[in-house]
Amino acid sequence: MSRYDFDLFTLGAGSGGVRASRMSAGYGARVAIAEERLLGGTCVNLGCIPKKLLVYASQVRAEVEVAVKGYGWAIEPGCHDWANFIANKDREIARLNGVYAGLLDDAGVARIEGHASIVDPHSVEVDGKPYTAEHILVATGSWPQVPDLPGREHTITSNQVFHLAEMPRRVIIVGGGYIAVEFAGIFHGLGASVTQLYRGPLFLRGFDDDVRTGLAQEMRRQGIDLRFDADPARLEKTEDGIVAVLADETRLEADCILYSTGRRPLTGGLGLAAVGVELDEKGAIVVDEFSRSTVESIWAIGDVTDRINLTPMAIAEGMALARTVFGQQPTKPDHDGVPSAVFSQPAIGSVGLTEAQAREQYAEVDVYRSHFRPLKHTLTGSGERTMMKLLVDRRSDRVVGLHMLGPEAGEIVQGFAVALKAGATKAIFDATVGIHPTAAEEFVTLREPVAD
Ligand code: NDP
Repeated sequence: MSRYDFDLFTLGAGSGGVRASRMSAGYGARVAIAEERLLGGTCVNLGCIPKKLLVYASQVRAEVEVAVKGYGWAIEPGCHDWANFIANKDREIARLNGVYAGLLDDAGVARIEGHASIVDPHSVEVDGKPYTAEHILVATGSWPQVPDLPGREHTITSNQVFHLAEMPRRVIIVGGGYIAVEFAGIFHGLGASVTQLYRGPLFLRGFDDDVRTGLAQEMRRQGIDLRFDADPARLEKTEDGIVAVLADETRLEADCILYSTGRRPLTGGLGLAAVGVELDEKGAIVVDEFSRSTVESIWAIGDVTDRINLTPMAIAEGMALARTVFGQQPTKPDHDGVPSAVFSQPAIGSVGLTEAQAREQYAEVDVYRSHFRPLKHTLTGSGERTMMKLLVDRRSDRVVGLHMLGPEAGEIVQGFAVALKAGATKAIFDATVGIHPTAAEEFVTLREPVAD
């Protein structure tokens, strides 16, 4: 009989925490999970899932335009009922919350509602009630951060954007990362006039430069007012809305100002410092390769560790943790070759190194690149272009980076990510027969490298 109430106590029922808990229970561990908000965490409630539903809603207008301009349809311009759509979306999210509860219950994981904090290496308190556990897992995720500027109280973040009472007609988006470009596309598609402000010379730092410049061109072509080297100095509330005042005193007015300037690990109020869990300068929990913190019985996975902040990565870290702690198979989560997509319009899909990284890492790099008009637009007159790019280490012939800007980039790159993970060479890409006519076939028919 164990001297603890549980073998594992998980703080946070997001994607990572739920998977680690269920899988640990599957190995026979007695598991409890505490959550103070909604089951499923950011991804299910205020992130990936509702965001993708908003992307679908926003793409309809462009699809109708394609149908009318090129495909013989006569469709009257319709209107979008924001409240109706948000209610539909909320019903689906509530259903998913129920699915998560069911998954935990079926796995025999005890669900505890409330704010949990760590009292000592084997004790946790949830709203004053004490529990003990042999292992504690922190999977509390992250939280949007807004810089400290005058008028900050007039901003919203991704925590509010999914529940706006009305669809804003004029939107300013601040930031140049995933969330900023995704919401610029969403609000533009839904008919708002959108201005995006990014503090640096080119947004999406960390992505391949051809993808970054290509998306900027596409967004501007669509009519999004994209401004680089622009950052609000202060925000002022007026009768008609909110004004963002830039450093050069340019004044931009909107109904809504969305800040998507990054997220911080959610480590406050957990009692971590008091028990000796080391945090880095950003407040993330420092962990070893097995996700163990500086306290032997305390582990951490997902955004709270600020490694690769993506849902599937948190899930992979959760599974590795369950194997390590309860499955007698010490497993390090693999952070190499992780593909990602940005659901901008057009979308981005990426796996492996950017061109800049490849040139730094390898002596000789062959770059294969293609720009083309998607077949669908041959009838619409749209100037939209798709970009695809392969980076090859000339010495080993291995494909070390693959990038796409274009429709369904996420769907396409997921498949190619398997090939890169398997170490595919350019010769293997060349030996693969394409599927015609698709955009994806371009990746296996790129024959001539771009001149050095
Ligand atoms: P990101 O880290 O992607 O981007 C933050 C952006 O805000 C950057 O452009 C950054 O600029 C800018 N920024 C940071 N601080 C300031 C500041 N003080 N003033 C002005 N600008 C600032 O964060 P997001 O908020 O877009 O997304 C959070 C995380 O959520 C992402 O890292 C990603 O992991 C995840 N996510 C993933 C998605 C997906 O997989 N499709 C979708 C949405 C989110 P700079 O580059 O100059 O530092």
